[in-house]
Amino acid sequence: MADAPARGPVHVDGEVVATKKVGGYRHLTLAAPGVPERFRPGTFVSVSVAGHVTRRALWVHKVRASSAFGPTLDVVVESRGSGTAWLSAQPVGTRVAVTGPLGRPFALPKQAVSCLLIGEGYAAAPLFPLAERLRERGCAVSLVVSAPDEARLLSALEARRSARSVTVLTADGSVGQRGQVADHAEDLVRRSGADVVYAAGPADVLRSAAVAAERTGAWSQVAVEVPTPCGTGLCHGCPLPVVGEDGVDRVVRACTEGPVVRGDRVRWDAL
Ligand SMILES: Cc1cc2nc3c(=O)[nH]c(=O)nc-3n(C[C@H](O)[C@H](O)[C@H](O)COP(=O)(O)OP(=O)(O)OC[C@H]3O[C@@H](n4cnc5c(N)ncnc54)[C@H](O)[C@@H]3O)c2cc1C
Repeated sequence: MADAPARGPVHVDGEVVATKKVGGYRHLTLAAPGVPERFRPGTFVSVSVAGHVTRRALWVHKVRASSAFGPTLDVVVESRGSGTAWLSAQPVGTRVAVTGPLGRPFALPKQAVSCLLIGEGYAAAPLFPLAERLRERGCAVSLVVSAPDEARLLSALEARRSARSVTVLTADGSVGQRGQVADHAEDLVRRSGADVVYAAGPADVLRSAAVAAERTGAWSQVAVEVPTPCGTGLCHGCPLPVVGEDGVDRVVRACTEGPVVRGDRVRWDAL
């Protein structure tokens, strides 16, 4: 009998085994045994940073079950505050504590349906392994990668290998079509003929993707970034306002009931 897949997060003593600046981001490869084996697209890891008690949440961009360093995962870091600046500056060999994978992944369709994946900036990271899983199931995958400018466009070349069709959007028009997801979401969803829309990015991107999906009769799954102090559900510090299946307004923990939730369940005005 085949071994059951490993489940649940693990805490591991990880190590930076590669680091590369790509445009406005730093791509880090972390050796973190146990995490890649359990990973499903949409889950995240929390990583320790020097001088801070709370860890920093990061999407997983790629996993490798085996390499010269054992199982590894790639994260994409945008330096915006002291924690991400520290992570971006770490050389190969730096030890970091990694906990993961955390949270609920994207739900995968049972049938080979048509899927549109919309990602903005670094948050497009989990859509690449998702595209791979969907393609394995025979789904037709279209991908939209958007960013404020070319430097913050994530893996646009790789996107062309991951999807049947790719749309590149930049707010400043430096590459691809000029514009923002909110301006084009409905048109993109209609043209793709998507049955399911997956989105990852800031709240305005998620909201426009969810609204466009609803208008066209598609399902949507959104990966919401609510700052998560502990990432494990213990601290209750990452409130995500939703409407429950029973129609009652609730606040759930983004790190455990999310970060991926149905787009039509999020109470966007309360987020
Ligand atoms: C599930 C999840 C996945 C994430 N994945 C990634 C990732 O793959 N790569 C990456 O670079 N970052 C990611 N983030 C965001 C990152 O964890 C936070 O920005 C983190 O606070 C940065 O730490 P810092 O010390 O650098 O900045 P901080 O000092 O904590 O914050 C710097 C600035 O960013 C603002 N900020 C903090 N968190 C967010 C947020 N989630 N959205 C918008 N603004 C915020 C703060 O208000 C502050 O102005 C993710 C967050 C979540 C919840």
